[in-house]
Amino acid sequence: MRRPCDRCGEREAVVRIESLGESICDKCLSTRIWRRVKPVLDREIQDGDVIASALSGGKDSSLTLYYLWRYKKESGKDFEIIAITIDEGTCYRAESISKAKELTSRLGVKHKIVKMSDIFAFSIPQVQVLLSKGRKKRDLCTYCGVFRRQALNIVAREEGATKVATGHNLDDMVQTLFMNLIRGDMSAMARLFSKSPSTRKLIPRIRPLARVSEKETTVQALLLEIPAHFGKCPLVSGMRVRVRKLLDDFEQKNPGFKERAFKSIEKLVKQAIPELTYHFELKYCKQCGEPTTQELCKVCQFKQELEAMIPS
Ligand SMILES: [Zn+2]
Ligand SMILES: [Zn+2]
Repeated sequence: MRRPCDRCGEREAVVRIESLGESICDKCLSTRIWRRVKPVLDREIQDGDVIASALSGGKDSSLTLYYLWRYKKESGKDFEIIAITIDEGTCYRAESISKAKELTSRLGVKHKIVKMSDIFAFSIPQVQVLLSKGRKKRDLCTYCGVFRRQALNIVAREEGATKVATGHNLDDMVQTLFMNLIRGDMSAMARLFSKSPSTRKLIPRIRPLARVSEKETTVQALLLEIPAHFGKCPLVSGMRVRVRKLLDDFEQKNPGFKERAFKSIEKLVKQAIPELTYHFELKYCKQCGEPTTQELCKVCQFKQELEAMIPS
């Protein structure tokens, strides 16, 4: 045995949790993660729910689906799970979709795969071509994120879902918070911590892995031998990459920084929320009718921008 687990002392340590200053074994890791995931599921899932699990085929969304499946088996609650994959049309997605299919058939979960170009007029590779030619206003990731979010909500709604579960981990959450902080978008920050207003058109979100670090989700997905794509999207660019690098660097020098930052920003935002609720009152896009906080939803705004870039 290489090094014994600092928790149980019985098994071999497989991962170092820097924020705790401990190296722990597979069993202790699994217990630690489940202790963070289960309370979210206990709180958010009720009898009769239909949970749409956003499944990209990456490790985090695959692990999320696995936990939903496990929770359904162990909790005795009567709810349904449906996995939804939005295919943006990238080569990267083609690889991860085959993993997603493998996972859903292994777990026996219903799986719906929808092409982004069937919902909107654009696929992500088409957007990429436009951006490479025109004067670009935003990064490809910004377009992709907005299109994917709305596509997911549309498909989940069509499938009768009552909640959408996404695979965002602690690292993603902290990155998003810092990006919103830099942009000064307090209402986006508030939305991350408040229950989304439930309307017939907007399906509320749950994020079971929000308190689990990326390092832990990676090791756990590998240990469980979950079929998943472990690479990062090769098209990822812009602000998110820079913020991620900055935060990773900080974490390395100050172990536990991300966890502490998440907790303190959460505290700060929650104290401010009563005042902020007003700012994200839901409206419906005057063009497409989808839920939005503005007159025109982000998708319709972005479509206009992209259409203006098409050479005549
Ligand atoms: Zn242990
Ligand atoms: Zn719209």
